[in-house]
Amino acid sequence: MTRRRLLAGAPLLAAAAKAAAGKVDRWSIITIGNLSRNQYWGEPNDKAFREVLCTTTLITGNGFRLLVDPSMASPDSMARELNRRTGLNLDDITAIFITHEHADHVAGLAHFPKPPWYSSAQTAEVLNQGSRFPKRIEAAPKTLFDAVAVVPTPGHTRGHHSLRFQCDGKRIVVAGDAVATLDFWRDRRSFYNAVDPEQGSRTMDAIAKMADIVAPGHDNYFLV
Ligand SMILES: [Zn+2]
Repeated sequence: MTRRRLLAGAPLLAAAAKAAAGKVDRWSIITIGNLSRNQYWGEPNDKAFREVLCTTTLITGNGFRLLVDPSMASPDSMARELNRRTGLNLDDITAIFITHEHADHVAGLAHFPKPPWYSSAQTAEVLNQGSRFPKRIEAAPKTLFDAVAVVPTPGHTRGHHSLRFQCDGKRIVVAGDAVATLDFWRDRRSFYNAVDPEQGSRTMDAIAKMADIVAPGHDNYFLV
C-alpha cells in the first residue's frame, strides 16, 4: 500500500475502531424473573404466592461484560446460572448495573466484589445509605462503555433507570421494573408497589418508541 493510500484510509480506520468500541456483540438472559404475586394469574396483591426473582441480563461487547440486576442470593446458584447460560464465571464480570434499589434486584450483588457497581445517582444515594453493602454503588455515566445508554425510566421508583443498546440491528431495552411482565406491558400497567403508576405508564409508552425488544424485570424478553 502506498503512503498516500495509507493516509487516505486512516480516518476510516479510526472511525471503524470507534464504532467497534461502541458495539454490543451479544446479550443473554441469565435468570428469567417472576413476580411474588401476579394479578394476571388471578392473584391478589395483598399476599405473596411465591418467592420473587428478577430477570438478570448480561450485555457483552468490546472489553466489557456488563451484568444487570444480579438476582440470586446464593453465590453457588448465581455462579451456576451465569455459567449455564454463558460459560462465564463470577469473576469474569467487569461491571454491574442496578436498575433500582429494590432488594430482589441487588440480591446477588455481593458475589461480584471486584467490578464497579453502577446505578443512577438517585438509586445509588438510596443504596449507599447505611452499611448494607461492602462497597459503594457509583453514579453511572450517561453511556457505559461507549455502547450502552443509561436512560431514566421513572414510575416504579423515582430514580429508576434502564439500559438501551443496539445489537444485530435491533434496539434492545433492558427495562428492569419499568416493565414488570408482558401482561403488565400490554396494559401499560405498573406493578402494585409503584411510587407513581401514571408516570410508569408514560415511561412504558416512551420505551415502546425506543425499543424493538424489551427485557422486563420479571419475565422473559419479548418483541415490542
Ligand atoms: Zn422493583
